[in-house]
Amino acid sequence: MPFSSLFSYPLSSPLLTLQNVVPSYAMCKEMNKPNTPQTYIHNIYVSIIQTLSGLFFCPKYTYRAISSIEGIVVSARSQKIRRIEIDQYTGLIRKVSEPTGVADVVLKDELIFPGFIDLHVHAREDMSHTQEYKEDFRTVGLAAINGGVVALADMPNNPIPPIDDKSYEQKGNLAKKSPIPVVLYAGIGPNTKPLSKKVPYKVFMGPSVGDLFFNSLDELEAVIKNYQGQNVSFHSEEPEILEKNKNASTHEAKRPPEAEISAVDFALQLIEKYDLVGKICHCSTLEGINKIISAKKRGIKVTVEVTPHHLYFDETMLGGKRKSFQVNPPIRQTKENRLALISMLKNGNIDYLATDHAPHSVSEKEKGISGLTHLDTYGPFITWLIKEHRFTFEEIVRVCSKNPSDFINKFSKDQYGEIKEGHIASLSVIDMKKPINISPKMLKTKCRWSPFLGITFPGSVSMTIIKGKLYEK
Ligand SMILES: [Zn+2]
Repeated sequence: MPFSSLFSYPLSSPLLTLQNVVPSYAMCKEMNKPNTPQTYIHNIYVSIIQTLSGLFFCPKYTYRAISSIEGIVVSARSQKIRRIEIDQYTGLIRKVSEPTGVADVVLKDELIFPGFIDLHVHAREDMSHTQEYKEDFRTVGLAAINGGVVALADMPNNPIPPIDDKSYEQKGNLAKKSPIPVVLYAGIGPNTKPLSKKVPYKVFMGPSVGDLFFNSLDELEAVIKNYQGQNVSFHSEEPEILEKNKNASTHEAKRPPEAEISAVDFALQLIEKYDLVGKICHCSTLEGINKIISAKKRGIKVTVEVTPHHLYFDETMLGGKRKSFQVNPPIRQTKENRLALISMLKNGNIDYLATDHAPHSVSEKEKGISGLTHLDTYGPFITWLIKEHRFTFEEIVRVCSKNPSDFINKFSKDQYGEIKEGHIASLSVIDMKKPINISPKMLKTKCRWSPFLGITFPGSVSMTIIKGKLYEK
């Protein structure tokens, strides 16, 4: 096995244990503003715990370098048994050819997909270092690998958001500790301007998690004007409608479907008027998707994401667990809406499966905070789409690899989305014959919580390959 090597990434589970022992401290940290004495003390606390946990207690995630793999290769058009040769120096695919039966890895029934890409992740780490008890770039990368995800795009609603060249570069330096490539969104907020280099942008139309949002649509348009022609993703919930419903009895009723539908309308107007390359994040309503479909037909440059939680859960399934499932936009009311989203993803009207992985501590979730975790369960969730909703492998490639690669390739030096010569050797291997039960033990996200805890998915991720480095289960 040429160039074979063994490495490992420690995972700081004791940090989580400590965090659960001192939940009140964790909650205080959430309230801290950057550059306060408390933040300073907190940073020291995090560094000590992370160092100790890394050194002594952590489970290891090992990888080895491979230069060839054979098995069933899935593309956007077909499935064929192929041999993939990998250049270990560049991490790129050197050649795709007929199988020989002899390779570093020879697979029988497993499916080799072009690596899955998650375009919507909150990795939490930023220059304030106040939220690393929830997640950091290292653990988010491990959770991604665990779920078969080979690259991700990270959202900017941090305590110190990346909104200009300097803050973007500083956060980029932190992201280098991730074991998988990370593309950062830059934030658009009141008074921001485009960066000097080409990056994707994210705008929060109304309040969600973090301080980066607008209070009115007029205020938003005044800033978006400066971003003519740029790539902008929208969190679409209209601030005025959220304000009007703020005293409703449930989280779901506080953020009703109209807030999203109306905001999608306005986002589409802005995309058209300022010639943006637009993306609507986590669309959760059939009406919202329909507006996007007709905008696409009119030639507007817009694509749309959907999350696993809006596909899997509806309000009838929440029972007494409403707080655990609190998320923005919220879980929607009807099964019909949910099933419609699934068929929209299957038939190509929705472009991406993007998770909105947004980790919080268990104690924070119990108190009620918006955001769910997903990266660890990305691959298993896909097997549910295949088995329960008859997604073809080719449809999975489209929404998990190919379409996301069309987005991310513009901001990455490597090319994703296809298994072919010159593309990145980052692959997701799925075993449809090995079900997996989601338990805290199998999770690598720092918060060790998932909305799918206790659920068994019909298949699992058997290995993830990142630039020729194989992470095995
Ligand atoms: Zn989000």
